[in-house]
Amino acid sequence: MKIIFATGNQNKMREVREIMEGTGYEIVSMKEAGIESDPEETGATFEENVLIKARDVAVKLSDEDKGKVIVLADDSGLEVDYMDKAPGVYSARFMGHETSYDIKNNAILEKLEGVPEEKRTARFVCAIGAIFPDGKEEVVLKTMEGKIGHKISGANGFGYDPIFIPEGYDVTSADISPEEKNKISHRGKALRKMKELLTKRM
Ligand code: IMP
Repeated sequence: MKIIFATGNQNKMREVREIMEGTGYEIVSMKEAGIESDPEETGATFEENVLIKARDVAVKLSDEDKGKVIVLADDSGLEVDYMDKAPGVYSARFMGHETSYDIKNNAILEKLEGVPEEKRTARFVCAIGAIFPDGKEEVVLKTMEGKIGHKISGANGFGYDPIFIPEGYDVTSADISPEEKNKISHRGKALRKMKELLTKRM
């Protein structure tokens, strides 16, 4: 059984392959399946966006794959409570797609300047959606809770990791190793939950 993952991001593909290892599914990227897809993420929630991405790939499946493969897609972002859960579904687009994360992260730190610890709560959210060969859809959503720190720190990770301090830590998610982050991250948890659902269908 084949899974087509709706992403062009090689890092995500590596993570997905690592976590899905041993399920018996063959996992290919949409590019490897010969599909181009970049639909506008018009949803107001992560769940909506993930299905927009997965459906766009599902309708573009080759005749050979139609009715046979599972399409998976993911959508993720950072919710900062003090900013009314922004940037949320706009995390990648926040302040413009091309703006560096150094600038984005500093802007968030500035917005939270002087804000006390208990009001600095935030979370990374990850939704993973599946469309099965029979057209049935399933979405799982997981979070990594934490808070916004006071300065940029750490060279691992990407995006908003250098300002995010996971619950139970006093360093950022860019300070910890990728392996450690995988264990606690929104994406790691959502992928493992999806793995559980897929294993049941095998
Ligand atoms: P996506 O590729 O549409 O899921 O965009 C997610 C965006 O959310 C990324 O561009 C990052 O800005 C942010 N994001 C999601 N997960 C993480 C993470 O684990 N660390 C840092 N930033 C993240």
